[in-house]
Amino acid sequence: MNKRLLTALAALPLIAAVPVHAQTAGRKAAPDPLAASFRAHVAFLADDTMGGRGIGTPGHEIAANYVAQHFARVGLTPAGDAGRWFQRVSFAESRFASEKETATLDLGSQRLVLENGVSMALSPGNEPGAEEISGEMVFVGYGLQDPSQGIDDFAGLDLRGKYAVVLSGAPDTLNSEVAAHLARNSKPMAAQAAGAIGLITVRTLKEAARLPWEKGVTRARLPRRQLLGPDGKPLGDGTGLKVRAAISDEAAAALFASAPMNFAAVQAAAAKGPVKGFALPGRFTVRRATAVERISSPNVLGLLPGRDPVLKDQIVVISAHLDHVGTKANPKPGEDAIFNGAMDNASGSATLLEAATALAKAPPKRSVLFLATTAEESGLLGADYFSRQPTVDVKRLVADVNIDMPILTCDFGDVVAFGGDRSTLGSVVAAAARAEKLGVSPDPQPEEAVFTRSDHYPFVRQGVPSVFLKTGWTDTRGGMACKDAERTFRLTHYHEVSDQLDLPFDWAAAAKWTRLNIGIIRRIADATAAPRWYEGDYFGTAFAPTAPKAPKITAARR
Ligand SMILES: [Zn+2]
Repeated sequence: MNKRLLTALAALPLIAAVPVHAQTAGRKAAPDPLAASFRAHVAFLADDTMGGRGIGTPGHEIAANYVAQHFARVGLTPAGDAGRWFQRVSFAESRFASEKETATLDLGSQRLVLENGVSMALSPGNEPGAEEISGEMVFVGYGLQDPSQGIDDFAGLDLRGKYAVVLSGAPDTLNSEVAAHLARNSKPMAAQAAGAIGLITVRTLKEAARLPWEKGVTRARLPRRQLLGPDGKPLGDGTGLKVRAAISDEAAAALFASAPMNFAAVQAAAAKGPVKGFALPGRFTVRRATAVERISSPNVLGLLPGRDPVLKDQIVVISAHLDHVGTKANPKPGEDAIFNGAMDNASGSATLLEAATALAKAPPKRSVLFLATTAEESGLLGADYFSRQPTVDVKRLVADVNIDMPILTCDFGDVVAFGGDRSTLGSVVAAAARAEKLGVSPDPQPEEAVFTRSDHYPFVRQGVPSVFLKTGWTDTRGGMACKDAERTFRLTHYHEVSDQLDLPFDWAAAAKWTRLNIGIIRRIADATAAPRWYEGDYFGTAFAPTAPKAPKITAARR
């Protein structure tokens, strides 16, 4: 352990000693031990010495040990590998070994050279070494496949040994969460099943409006993490695809120039709905060199056995990711290079730790599994690994409540329960919110499809009713101060080095947030009936076809 870490651990009692009530924004409040304890967790986990809790780094390992020792302190049972606190997750971290990666688009007499990070965003390979991967191309529309929705964009197209060229996202004709789900999973799976060698994404007008190409392409040369199974083989969807790339609109326009529809016509049609696919002229050839390193990082798991002789067999999961994005590559001298991740997600982790403290004092009827995931920032990989390699029987899991980046710089008056309208969990959240004088609001940004973007999502895909809780936009005075707070955080501090302890945290609001989550878990774990998906809900039907369903209160989302 290096010196700096030692000093950090030595400083621990000091950090916890800061009087919290003096910190509560503008309100004289009696010292609140919950707020003080919450702050202490955030102060430790988001301290510079944690180095931004990047996976595979000492900082994340120490943070994971901090969580494990807290679980031990409050009397939980280890629920990781072989009776330990940790479930070790392995990854293949691939990064480019070349200075420059290119692809050529050979279109008859014209040859276009695309450079990675400029006119193309290419991911590193799965295998180490230099590669040249060449193939013809077939346009597949949005590239979605879901028989339950009567969708198969691959029908009638021959993709064997070719590149599938797909539109980004999914048509607006689909429910935004179903669309996000299909866009995230079905494309790589369907392309691989059709025999394609790779996936090339071209942008819709909507995507072009959402994110400037120059901003998106900056992530092109970041390392890629691939989940590995216990057998060391890649684990996940579409892992057999050799190439994943996105190309700029200019490159796409050249590619479609002599196709049955030019790119402008394709984008115009895509704005209305699904687009039928067709073969494309020319060849696409990628040249790159990859280095692959094997790294590992732990999920941390503690179980609180239920007190009811029957219901204790059922498990309620509370999850929050502990990892963050680490440090800046090549910082300038003296520059703050640490992504402390105080809000994302030291705050969610603190909620999980305080829920463990409170629930362990009076265990509910059902068992509760506390899961501090790793590698959420790399694509929900820790939660995905647990859901595919659970350390407890997945049939015992009756719900997941996920916590990720609550915005605690505002005294919020409502919450949003993503997924709450898909199962009976929504009414549980509403009851717990009422107890804290909070409202529950509908998803203010359905187009963002937040439901598929955090660690509860792998549980959904295992058929477990799940809810992802976020602080809302209204404040306790009925104003919209929290909308501004969320916007300020998202635009200024999200995944920036400034997401740290000196943000204007409202620790009393953090305590209220924690009490709310404890209330939700306790209500689920003590309820007579386990949560149920609503009849006809897309995710319940797709991933829990035989599970008993609950009649839906309103028909809004059928
Ligand atoms: Zn997060």
